[in-house]
Amino acid sequence: MTVTFDGTADWHAASLPQAQPLDEVNRQWLEHTHPSDWTNPTPDGRYNLVVIGGGTAGLVSAAGAAGLGARVALVERDLLGGDCLNVGCVPSKALIRAARAVADVRDAGTFGVQVPAGVTVDFPQVMARMRELRGAISPHDSAERFRGLGVDVYLGEARFTSPTTVEVDGRTLTFARACIATGARASAPPIPGLADAGYLTNETVFSLTALPRRLAVIGAGPIGCELAQAFARFGSGVHLFEAMHGVLPNEDPEAAEVVRATMERDGIRVMCCGQNLQVERGSDGKRLRVDSHGTHYDVEVDAILVSAGRAPNVHGLGLEAAGVAFDRTGVTVNDFLQTSASHIYAAGDIASRFKFTHAADALARIVIQNALFFGRKRASALTIPWCTYTDPEVAHVGLYPKDAEAQGVALDTYTIEQAKGDRALLDGETEGFLKIHARKGTDTILGATLVARHAGEMISEITLAMQAGVGLGTLAATIHPYPTQAEIFKKAGDAYSRTRLTPRVKGLFETLLRWRR
Ligand SMILES: Cc1cc2nc3c(=O)[nH]c(=O)nc-3n(C[C@H](O)[C@H](O)[C@H](O)COP(=O)(O)OP(=O)(O)OC[C@H]3O[C@@H](n4cnc5c(N)ncnc54)[C@H](O)[C@@H]3O)c2cc1C
Repeated sequence: MTVTFDGTADWHAASLPQAQPLDEVNRQWLEHTHPSDWTNPTPDGRYNLVVIGGGTAGLVSAAGAAGLGARVALVERDLLGGDCLNVGCVPSKALIRAARAVADVRDAGTFGVQVPAGVTVDFPQVMARMRELRGAISPHDSAERFRGLGVDVYLGEARFTSPTTVEVDGRTLTFARACIATGARASAPPIPGLADAGYLTNETVFSLTALPRRLAVIGAGPIGCELAQAFARFGSGVHLFEAMHGVLPNEDPEAAEVVRATMERDGIRVMCCGQNLQVERGSDGKRLRVDSHGTHYDVEVDAILVSAGRAPNVHGLGLEAAGVAFDRTGVTVNDFLQTSASHIYAAGDIASRFKFTHAADALARIVIQNALFFGRKRASALTIPWCTYTDPEVAHVGLYPKDAEAQGVALDTYTIEQAKGDRALLDGETEGFLKIHARKGTDTILGATLVARHAGEMISEITLAMQAGVGLGTLAATIHPYPTQAEIFKKAGDAYSRTRLTPRVKGLFETLLRWRR
């Protein structure tokens, strides 16, 4: 089944270290994202904007600037589409959808639907579906499409050679403005023996052609939890190792607890507060030793997936030559996304703590306005939601109580359990809750966490409310179709409205109603 690349181009090997099957689907995907016969343009004069990195931030800034009439160059060293299309959101969500199908079949009995015994997961077929869908999405990010948009697309490694020049493939591009959009990549913690034993990251896990019978996932952040649950549902015996206190350690603790409980029901062995983690080659695979809550565990697996942090792609970029400051978190930018060289901007994972595709998109739009049209748009003005696509999903926007406390902002929190909603009951999706945090004594929404099967689809109602300055009172007055899980927002609005009914107001109402009898 496995067909290796013929090695005609280094980038092929670099992009697909696990040697994916080079079937027609993969061939088309690669022809869109890094065409093998691509000829780089010859630079002709100064560009308004040179964009380094062809992930979401780079593609959006290049397309937007070209659409507004700018002369734009876009440089990508590997695959256009960046992490999201190739080794991130797109392949992971395709696998998660297949894993949900497994869970639905597994749980069908609770709906009175009897599924014959012996239903199995065809992992190669699951991966083939993922590749096909990734290929189907790839034309949108393709070199050909961007050339058609008027962008000069260069395939190769970009490096600043001065504050106004970038070198790629032996060519020198001169620019008035530049945007650094080089993203981040998986970084492995310094765990003794890990490098020697070998491990997967998001750059290689989607190239697997066989399901690991036993899988260790190191890191229980969003990526680790999403993939641990998917692989457990496919049938891997999954151990999830986390050095901190629990899964999704940056999330609302009660939300994280719901996810942990579901993952354990999926058969995942969660080992939190892990200390002294060590890896070595075992007799029959890879052996991990860890101390967790006073117990020493010794686990043998076939594969290890590391999802324990991201490192910015700053090396080899020549940032010093351009006078662009950076540190271990990435390129340093001000609120207008200008680097220390004020005509050079940065957007996306390289320059933001919000490492999401939609954040990269929003930041790139700020770069276009500020870099080319004298804009003064601020990154801090964005309302950025996010979602972890476990089952159930955890979506969040705005402040957490811990943030509010740090800022000295007092909150009223309205919590509604999913189980209180008729639709959630009918769907058998009662796990989870909505927490809305409002400025104390007002209906102004400052943040929300939603745990629900489709929380990612639902959170936008709150994001819109926050963006538009719409309060809980308006949510209460908004008619939601019955029965929908989104009624949970109206219930939160109603909970707020009830707090307006003080004894004094109630007394006035009673007097009025007595008079009108
Ligand atoms: C497994 C996984 C799942 C994810 N799921 C989601 C999700 O569901 N939703 C979500 O919002 N986000 C998700 N993310 C995060 C999302 O993928 C990133 O936030 C997004 O891709 C960031 O876009 P970017 O343009 O900043 O960087 P990238 O996508 O990393 O693109 C940067 C590009 O720059 C190129 N580059 C780097 N250096 C150079 C150079 N010197 N010269 C030329 N090119 C260079 C790289 O090759 C790369 O293509 C996920 C990430 C992972 C890993």
